[in-house]
Amino acid sequence: METHHGKHHAAYIKNMNAILAERADAPNALEAVVALAVLEGDKKLFNNAAQSWNHGFFWQSLSPEVQGGPGGDLKAALEKSFGSLDAFNEEAKAKGAGHFASGWLWLVSDRSGTLSLTDLHDADTPITDASLTPLLVCDLWEHAYYLDYKNERPRFIDAFLSKLANWRFAETQYEAARAGKGAWVFPA
Ligand code: FE
Repeated sequence: METHHGKHHAAYIKNMNAILAERADAPNALEAVVALAVLEGDKKLFNNAAQSWNHGFFWQSLSPEVQGGPGGDLKAALEKSFGSLDAFNEEAKAKGAGHFASGWLWLVSDRSGTLSLTDLHDADTPITDASLTPLLVCDLWEHAYYLDYKNERPRFIDAFLSKLANWRFAETQYEAARAGKGAWVFPA
């Protein structure tokens, strides 16, 4: 995680800042930088800005203490959307393990509170879809697990779901999704 945070995430931010230093109209908010890159079709800026944001969200998705799963309204929503918590875990493992190459496994909510799992490629991020609020993310890039788990991505996903996931953060995000505001933003 130190290498992931201090080398990989840091490199995306450094690259993005180098691109933004070249232009006078660079927005301050990272969410606005991602939106600008989409608007202008600037793939290099998008990749570095979205990866900066995605990793910021990934650190929020991790807890130093094992939390024992989701609670409250989020638990009820997971059971309603997936059938059961076991069914959610199975779908998350299958989607994460089956994702080809680099990307991210996102738990997202729509405005009605319906939850879904979506695996996105490379730097792609659900914040480009205004109808969705991300609740939790697991990094599926090899750099996320190779040092600790070698080629065994399923074991990393299993550890994420059973030990690492920050369900208290996901619960806060779920409340924000239903309110249509107040979701996590990258620190200014
Ligand atoms: Fe990563």
